[in-house]
Amino acid sequence: MNQRDEALALDAADPLAPLRDQFALAPDVIYLDGNSLGVPPAAAAQRAQTVIGAEWAQGLIRSWNTAGWFSLPRRLGNKLAPLIGAAHNEVVVTDTISINLFKVLSAALRLQDRRDPKRRVIVSERSNFPTDLYIAQGLIKQLNRGYELRLVDDPSELPAAITDDVAVVMITHVNYRTGYMHDMAALTQLIHRQGALALWDLAHSAGAVPVDLNSVGADCAVGCTYKYLNGGPGSPAFAWVPHRHQSDFEQPLSGWWGHRAPFAMDPTYAADEGIGRFLCGTQPMVSMALVECGLDVFLQTDMQAIRKKSLALTDLFIELVETRCNEFPLKLVTPRAHSQRGSHASFEHPRGYEVMQALIARGVIGDYREPHVLRFGFTPLYTRYVDVWDAVEHLRDVLAHETWRAPEFAARGAVT
Ligand SMILES: *Cc1c(COP(=O)(O)O)cnc(C)c1O
Repeated sequence: MNQRDEALALDAADPLAPLRDQFALAPDVIYLDGNSLGVPPAAAAQRAQTVIGAEWAQGLIRSWNTAGWFSLPRRLGNKLAPLIGAAHNEVVVTDTISINLFKVLSAALRLQDRRDPKRRVIVSERSNFPTDLYIAQGLIKQLNRGYELRLVDDPSELPAAITDDVAVVMITHVNYRTGYMHDMAALTQLIHRQGALALWDLAHSAGAVPVDLNSVGADCAVGCTYKYLNGGPGSPAFAWVPHRHQSDFEQPLSGWWGHRAPFAMDPTYAADEGIGRFLCGTQPMVSMALVECGLDVFLQTDMQAIRKKSLALTDLFIELVETRCNEFPLKLVTPRAHSQRGSHASFEHPRGYEVMQALIARGVIGDYREPHVLRFGFTPLYTRYVDVWDAVEHLRDVLAHETWRAPEFAARGAVT
């Protein structure tokens, strides 16, 4: 593509374009960080008002029943389920990814321990999002039963690493830094051939790429709602456990919301028979209510249409960076093959941090990940082709004029 007009023409022909109006987007911002925090659905402000002003202020304690608060984690789970190939009553929206990982990983290890106690290895990738590894490390220490975390440096090492002593393989479907996407069906099959269980982290997949957990036969999954699902900052995450495992999966955070009859006030814990056992305690209703506004936008389209546009956006971005910024030291770290690419594109630059700060100062918001990675997320519900064009022109300008050298762009905040 050589002209901005061509991008405008793609937008004019884009069947998803009208959905952009359903988001409260800041003017003068090109937002390429929906992979980290989605933008607010336009309906969210009104929903927050209703939850606080009517359900909380007027309904008070009655709203646990009358406003459907108590059943909300399950109801939202059912609304989310089709986006990830899950069945009815297989998903709950609750807690954080970190906490849900602790729950499902614990449950999977317990199940494997009953079946085959010599399986004492959890396999994952060194490049996984750190919290996933931290949770596994903390759990291993807590269990104190000789478990080991085996990390590979490259996906190609997975077949050799998944040996007959492996209990669980815990993989993030789309890598948060590089955007590399695993073949979930093939890897799940390989994991099962070795008698291990497949735990998938869908943080960068849910709402970003088509996922079909039941058709690939995965064993459990977690994901969040504040990235591509636009649920809001810190909105609750989700856990998926298929019907075939639910009664065998025992999780250790046995709080009262996961009890089969929470209000029986029984002194003895008895897990809910279904997915409800993955709840723990009282959930944040104001935040959780907004998750629905994000999910409702997805009901108006489907993941195939989203995937098609996502690939077109990342293809265009990669092409434009490589043609219009070719004299600068930018190196693509995202796979070119569609089958291996999620919905973001990352480039390394030796001064990546400063370059990103200079872009953000101009209203082109992506983010930076150690080491040296400029990360740009593409969210087909609201990203336009012309945004891609304009973002690359800003990048070219920042690099050509070296505006990133201004001292203020070297200052680091707590969140990068
Ligand atoms: C974003 C992300 C998380 C976040 O975990 P929280 O506990 O919800 O903060 C976890 N894992 C991966 C792979 C992520 O990308």
